[in-house]
Amino acid sequence: VLCVSQDFDFFYFVQQWPGSYCDTKQSCCYPTTGKPAADFGIHGLWPNYQDGNYPQNCDPKNPFNPDKTWRPPATYCPWRRPSIQLRIGFVTIGVFVVADLRSSLQKNWPTLACPSGNGVSFWTHEWEKHGTCSESVLDQHGYFQAALSLQKQAKLLQALASAGINPDGGSYSMSNIKRAIQEAVGFTPWIECNTDASGNSQLYQIYLCVDTSGKNLIECPVFPKGKCGSEIEFPSF
Ligand code: 5GP
Ligand code: 5GP
Ligand code: 5GP
Repeated sequence: VLCVSQDFDFFYFVQQWPGSYCDTKQSCCYPTTGKPAADFGIHGLWPNYQDGNYPQNCDPKNPFNPDKTWRPPATYCPWRRPSIQLRIGFVTIGVFVVADLRSSLQKNWPTLACPSGNGVSFWTHEWEKHGTCSESVLDQHGYFQAALSLQKQAKLLQALASAGINPDGGSYSMSNIKRAIQEAVGFTPWIECNTDASGNSQLYQIYLCVDTSGKNLIECPVFPKGKCGSEIEFPSF
């Protein structure tokens, strides 16, 4: 098939709190480029179905390609506009991959897994597992660009701070956290918790939903599953 149309219903846009990734039993490793800012970082942009299932690893023929500046377009789909194209007249001969986004990704999509890395293996994993399942809508450059731009639309730390919710190790109610984000960002989030080294439930990841263009936040058609307490910790980083 030369051009397949989109086969998913919406995206989860998932951001992680680095303090909660790092204070677990397992601990974390800072990227080789240095300690990330004390802010939410991108985890991924995940195509999903309305029924809660999701596709993964959709196209082994489209591996992550961070270094090459130009590559021929994977397929010629007239309605899909790669963010940056090299064209001769009407003919697209190449698309810009992600080299120009690298410093933004380092800052806003940092890796905290051990051993320390520069981010490429985290981005590779996210592209290959999730990004390839939305490749009919977003090419590699478009996928990473979309996530970076969604993060700017959903300033979570600022949203929480405006309700007096800060990463100070204090305990906050789930409903206040959700309300603060709903009010500042305009959409109801899903909160995922994990547990710190002493077993306290804490704010780990925040999910928002995005339409199939990858550009607009929407109300979630379905929420993920998983339990938090009604009071959860917001650790420092
Ligand atoms: P966990 O089992 O830790 O919740 O999730 C492991 C991984 O499975 C996630 O990082 C993500 O790649 C994938 N995953 C978990 N839940 C969902 C979901 O609801 N939708 C999608 N698209 N991926 C998910
Ligand atoms: P997912 O849960 O998205 O399927 O998988 C996350 C994968 O990316 C895991 O293999 C994990 O080790 C790796 N990874 C690298 N850096 C990070 C990070 O900062 N946060 C998370 N959650 N996973 C990371
Ligand atoms: P309600 O629909 O009354 O808000 O919540 C029903 C159940 O889902 C409660 O146990 C509540 O704690 C849980 N819940 C509501 N919102 C979230 C969320 O964003 N994340 C998690 N993990 N649980 C939630």
